[in-house]
Amino acid sequence: MSAALRDQYGRGIEYLRISVTDKCNFRCLYCMPLEGLQWLPKSDILSYEEIAGIVAQLAPLGLRRLRITGGEPTIRPDLDRLVAMLRLVGEINDISLSTNGVRLPELAGRLRGAGLDRVNMSVDSLRPDRIAAISRRQTGFDPFASAVAAERAGLDPIKINVVVMRGINDDEVCDFARLTLEHAWHVRFIELMPVGDMRELTWEHVVESAEILDRAASVGPLTRTVGPSRGNGPADYYRLEGAPGTIGVITPMTHTYCSSCNRVRLTADGRLRTCLFGDHEVGLRDPYRRGERLEPLFRQALAAKPLEHNLLQMKVGGLRALSQVGG
Ligand code: SAM
Ligand code: SF4
Repeated sequence: MSAALRDQYGRGIEYLRISVTDKCNFRCLYCMPLEGLQWLPKSDILSYEEIAGIVAQLAPLGLRRLRITGGEPTIRPDLDRLVAMLRLVGEINDISLSTNGVRLPELAGRLRGAGLDRVNMSVDSLRPDRIAAISRRQTGFDPFASAVAAERAGLDPIKINVVVMRGINDDEVCDFARLTLEHAWHVRFIELMPVGDMRELTWEHVVESAEILDRAASVGPLTRTVGPSRGNGPADYYRLEGAPGTIGVITPMTHTYCSSCNRVRLTADGRLRTCLFGDHEVGLRDPYRRGERLEPLFRQALAAKPLEHNLLQMKVGGLRALSQVGG
């Protein structure tokens, strides 16, 4: 198999995050305004066949890992059909899903059957009233039941991502940490990023990772550890004594992971973005629909991948919501 294509700074690019929709059944305080966003017209959105066709062209250039994301990917009908198509691309050895988890009890088995390897669930509270208040939807979401459904389906590892917000859910850090004592789940605390149109949240809601770890350490001593066997993204991992699960922190606000960034993103309407932030992107949809080869465009995109971003120097509101760029 070919080695990963390198960008202008020598970073091998082997990981593609694919957004399959910009829509969502949640309205998380930090991600989407209550009234929703300006949704993409249906004709602009890549079909599953087009996504798989694009991946099949890029994979021989070094892609090995895929993540399906959104918006909320599980609201797009028959997502297992896409997973099955992506599974057929020979070079790909890892397919994961980012989801709010609401539909996992009904979908986990089908997705696993189609070839999904693992799942990251976003869970910001373990309390039903808070889940409704943060997601601003009454879905009756039971994160525990969803994680168990994913586990029973054979998805592994199971990662639970928690965006920590001061005064909103920061008092649950210990409850989440305790989950790892009972379950082989990997709880990852994410620093809130003040991006997009977050009217309810400000920089004052950001809780830095050092404080998050201090709180988690009140459950018991934390030791540095390696993360779960697969898909160790940009997180530092710790373990409570005797715990089957791990605790991770993802620190976009206090550290950047840019020097080892190995990823690019495909938006739901087929734009290849080389950095989550900023506007570095190359449209792949129309060239693909015209039957053109994508390799030169991929090379061109990587040649322009920025060295780094600095969120702390960016202004609130100047950046798009993560749901629009396949966060
Ligand atoms: N809907 C899926 C989900 O929630 O997992 C996938 C898309 S969501 C945009 C991907 C991840 O971005 C989630 O873990 C979410 O918590 C995170 N995210 C979105 N906006 C964020 C923000 N402003 N700060 C930190 N994390 C954010
Ligand atoms: Fe939807 Fe995920 Fe954004 Fe929440 S974080 S609004 S679940 S896309």
